[in-house]
Amino acid sequence: MFQQPLPVEYTRLDPEQTASRIAQARQTLGDRVLILGHHYQRDEIIRWADYRGDSFKLSQLAASHPDRPYIVFCGVHFMAESADVLTAEEQIVILPNLSAGCSMADMANIRQVETAWCEITQTIEEDSLIPITYVNSAANLKAFVGRHRGPCCTSSNARKVLEWALSRGERVLFFPDQHLGRNTAVGMGFDPDRDMALWDPRERHGGVTPQKLADSKFILWKGHCSVHGRFTVEQIEKARRDHPDIRVIVHPECTLDVVRAADCNGSTEYIIQTIEQSEPGSKWAVGTEINLVNRLQHEHPDKLVFCLDPVICPCSTMYRIHPHYLLWVLENLAEGRVVNQIRVKSDIREWARVSLERMLSIR
Ligand code: SF4
Repeated sequence: MFQQPLPVEYTRLDPEQTASRIAQARQTLGDRVLILGHHYQRDEIIRWADYRGDSFKLSQLAASHPDRPYIVFCGVHFMAESADVLTAEEQIVILPNLSAGCSMADMANIRQVETAWCEITQTIEEDSLIPITYVNSAANLKAFVGRHRGPCCTSSNARKVLEWALSRGERVLFFPDQHLGRNTAVGMGFDPDRDMALWDPRERHGGVTPQKLADSKFILWKGHCSVHGRFTVEQIEKARRDHPDIRVIVHPECTLDVVRAADCNGSTEYIIQTIEQSEPGSKWAVGTEINLVNRLQHEHPDKLVFCLDPVICPCSTMYRIHPHYLLWVLENLAEGRVVNQIRVKSDIREWARVSLERMLSIR
């Protein structure tokens, strides 16, 4: 999907004009609209959100508001798709900028996954293989997983989902984030060299030998998050040198060596809760997206909270949700026009919902 250029009038608005018109459109729409803001959005967007959260929490919030005909999802494409899958048929989900994708989600597409499945199951029994997709993936991959007895997972429940899968099959095909898969499996006691294979969709047969496939419990897709991939052990060592009493907390989309060097790791919600609940005066070096880290520091002035990478750029695709785009979709809605609707095709929607509900059933 391509984003049409914004009308020039919008691009010329200064921040105050933009904010005042967003407030006006918001008031006109009243309870007809629900605005959701992902934690990684900039403050100029978050200030308008009815709720902020991680991708799955926001989709569930959308589903729990069937009275709101319009859901404006300030996040990236796969999140708006999940919201559409989980909300009622008649609800309309809108992504303010259609070019707000996710570079990790784009590292696995349905053609590649179907090819991988076909090649892997030539070597190992299909019945012994359970596919799992991280929620950071396109709806058609969630549907693929749903059709093949698999669930989705989030960074909060990845361990439970992997344990569930291994109680039903001998192996897991995990996509698109190799690091979440590897970190979770290592946390469960598996060996990254002995028990895991890395499937590179750009190589013939994924670059994995039949013997390695047969020997592996986890076949990890060669995808990663370009934001969390920037954090390094050297940054952690520097933070510890500069602040001997620092604690380091990172997201499991970081590499295994970074996760091992940190004091703790967990989902975005885990990072937020851990810092919120820590004692006044505590110091945190954080390995996750900069907008969230800066907001945590701002909201907890009694603590020191800083990003491990001092020159890190924000998630560039999240950043595409500029206030001008939010204003544009809201003013169109206020005038009765829907722009930038995200609509998942009905057969994909049905199977994607199966994989999401299967995940929710895992306790
Ligand atoms: S932070 Fe990483 S995984 Fe999240 S939306 Fe940005 S690129 Fe995708």
